[in-house]
Amino acid sequence: MLTGLARDGGLYVPESWPTLDAATIAGFAGRPFAELAVEVIAPFMGGAIPRDELRAMAESAYAGFGHPAVTPLVQIAQGRFVLELFHGPTLAFKDVAMQLLARLMDHVLARRDARATIVGATSGDTGGAAIEAFRGSRRVDVVIMFPDGRVSDVQRRMMTTPTEPNVHALAVRGTFDDCQARLKAMFNDHAFRDRVRLAGVNSINWARIIAQVTYYFAAATALGAPHRAVTFVVPTGNFGDILAAWVARRMGLPIERLVIASNANDILPRTVASGVYEMRGVTATTSPSMDIQVSSNFERYLFEASGRDAALLRGQMASLAQSGRFELGRAAAPLRQDFAAAAASEAEVAATIRDVQARSGYLIDPHTACAVVAAGKALPRNTAPEVVLATAHPAKFPDAMRAVTGRAPPLPPRLASLLADPERFEVEDNDDARLKRFVEARARAAGGGAA
Ligand SMILES: *Cc1c(COP(=O)(O)O)cnc(C)c1O
Repeated sequence: MLTGLARDGGLYVPESWPTLDAATIAGFAGRPFAELAVEVIAPFMGGAIPRDELRAMAESAYAGFGHPAVTPLVQIAQGRFVLELFHGPTLAFKDVAMQLLARLMDHVLARRDARATIVGATSGDTGGAAIEAFRGSRRVDVVIMFPDGRVSDVQRRMMTTPTEPNVHALAVRGTFDDCQARLKAMFNDHAFRDRVRLAGVNSINWARIIAQVTYYFAAATALGAPHRAVTFVVPTGNFGDILAAWVARRMGLPIERLVIASNANDILPRTVASGVYEMRGVTATTSPSMDIQVSSNFERYLFEASGRDAALLRGQMASLAQSGRFELGRAAAPLRQDFAAAAASEAEVAATIRDVQARSGYLIDPHTACAVVAAGKALPRNTAPEVVLATAHPAKFPDAMRAVTGRAPPLPPRLASLLADPERFEVEDNDDARLKRFVEARARAAGGGAA
C-alpha cells in the first residue's frame, strides 16, 4: 500500500488467495456497503488492522457518496443492469478505492509516526480522485502533475479548487507522456524517493485493487448470487477494474462471464484473440481514461495464469520493454477461458449512447458506452443477468456528450460550485530537476511543506 511499485520494478500480489464460502456470500445481500467492504477486504489484511477500525474507515470513506447504496444498480433493459460507480466526489469509479486508500494510508502512517509524499501523473480522472481523497490528510502530501492545457475544465477544476495546503495541482508544460516520464524518473532516483518517502496511488497500488473487489460482491448478491451467477462487462484500460472482478471470482463469487471492454485502443481484445500482447500507438477517443496502450495490471493476471512462473514473466516483461510485444505462451488458454473481450469504435460509442437513451431514457457516458457495445458483441446468447459497469458520470465529459446528444448533462447539485470556485495551481517546466525541487519543497516528509 505505501510503496506502490516494488523497488525491483515488479508488482505486489498476495501470497495466497482468501476465499469466502457460499453462506458468507449469501449473507452479504442487503448489508450496508461499508459493512460488506470490510468482509471482502479484511481477509487480505492478515489482522494488520482491527476490524472495527477498518469498519470506521470504510464508513467514513463512503459517507460522502451521493447515493445511500454507494454503488447502486439501475435496470436499463430486460436482463441488463448498470452498476453506477460514479457517486463519489469526482464522479468516476476511482473514488470508491481512493477514498478508502487515503484513510488506510493515514492510519498506517499515524501508527508508524511517519509521513509520505504522493506524486502522481494524470491524464484526467486519477488526479482529481487522489486530491479529493487526500485533501486535509495529516500525514500525506500530494502533488499531481497534469499536462498544461490538455485536461478538460471539469477535470482540472476537480484538482485545482480544493484549498487544503497539503494538496498541489501542478500543470507541466508538456504532454501526459512527459508527466509520466518525469514521475518515473522520480521513482528511479532512490535517494530522492527515500528523502520524500515517495508513494504512488496509480492503479498498480494493490490496495486500490482490493478496494474495487467490493462492488462486484455487492452487485452480484443484489441479483441473487451465490445462488445465481452474474455476468460483468467492464470498461478497462489498465486492466485494474477487470482484475478486481477476476479476484472476486477467485474468492468464490460465481461469475458467469467476464467481459473486457475496450475503446479503439484494443490491445486487450487483440491479445485474447491472438495470444500475442503487442503495443501500438495510442488513439485519442471520447473515453480518455481508457486511452492506454500498456495495461499495467495485466502482469498480475499473467503471473497467475502461467502458474506463478516469475522467471517466465520476467522474460515476457523484458521482451515487452525491448520490442513492444511478447507471446503469452501457456497463459493464452486460461486467458480465453477466463475472459471474453471486445472493442468499441467511436461511431459505435456515439450510436450506443443515443440508442440506450432512446430505449430507456438513461444517459451513459462514453466509457460506459464502450461496455454496452462490448456486451452486444461478446455475449450473443447470454442467459445470466448482465451487469455493465458505469465508471463515470456523463456530466464529467460535457463536450463528448454534447457532440453525441446535442446537450451537455448538468453536474449533480452537490458539485454546483465547481465551475465558479477559485482555482489554485502552479505551472512548471517539463524538467526533472525543477519538478523534484517543487515536490521536495512541499513534502513535509522531507522537512518542507506548508506550516
Ligand atoms: C480509470 C478509468 C477506467 C479504466 O480503469 P482501469 O483501472 O484501467 O480498469 C475506465 N473508466 C473511467 C471513467 C476511468 O476513470
